Amino acid sequence: MPVASLDALPLLPANRAPLSPVYPWPKGNKAAVFLSFDVDAESAWTAKDPNHYERLVTMSYGGFEARVGIPKLLEMLREQELKATFFITGWAIEAHTAACEAILKDGHEIGHHGFHHLMPDPGAPHIVEEMDKGLDSLKRRLGVVPVGYRAPLGESCEELRVLLKKHGFLYSSSWRDDVRPYRQVLADGTPGVVELPATMTFDDWMYGLTHRYSPRPLFPREHVLSIWNDELAETRDWGGLITTVLHPQVSGRPMRLKLLREFLEHVKSYGDVWIATGAEIAGHFAACEAADTKAA
Ligand SMILES: [Zn+2]
Repeated sequence: MPVASLDALPLLPANRAPLSPVYPWPKGNKAAVFLSFDVDAESAWTAKDPNHYERLVTMSYGGFEARVGIPKLLEMLREQELKATFFITGWAIEAHTAACEAILKDGHEIGHHGFHHLMPDPGAPHIVEEMDKGLDSLKRRLGVVPVGYRAPLGESCEELRVLLKKHGFLYSSSWRDDVRPYRQVLADGTPGVVELPATMTFDDWMYGLTHRYSPRPLFPREHVLSIWNDELAETRDWGGLITTVLHPQVSGRPMRLKLLREFLEHVKSYGDVWIATGAEIAGHFAACEAADTKAA
């Protein structure tokens, strides 16, 4: 239902989930890092304007992912012995099937990220089609039935989260309102999927990519590592979760890859921060929640 005026706004928070439960992390870890990448490829650009497909230099920003970014990230993750989650658009799966198969072959989790990377804005006519076509590409091309979803362009709405529940997703990773996982509550009061909230602090697009359709200053390694390391240190003290929102067209660039590697080595040096996929973290949450309910 479109909100017509300020007077029509409910006098309630938009997120009606109770405060996040404080469950311990597995194996005595103090905190967790949900290492995740969004594989938008060219659909990051065509979502804004399909005519960009004819703009070959603009397309080449997204094309970098399959040609260089994904293979280099996979190589680095193998060296670091880490598993991550890759949220991939259906379009990228269709256009870059071999690169996506390589992600799967390395044992990483693959999640849903729409088909054409269209924003799930409330009332948008494409929400169901984006969901269905994305699921179809994942299944038909990769044999994957995803348990995780990240909303393209960082927006979501009630229609979408009802769809996630209907399709049996375990988790979403789109909200920005916590440092711990929690269970969403739908507008009708029933439980939704688990939410693994993200933070713009770990969105590499903010620091490392500039284009006339996405103009931003570029940040050097020292600035980014300073932000990331400080956020990690404090989040670890809080016993919280860091969710990254990284893109192979940004973090697959040479200097960006180096700084990501340095950050991951720093995370590992604590020895008590769990670096995991979304399925592992949401699965852990759901198990703790089930034990909690049983005990109550
Ligand atoms: Zn994206």
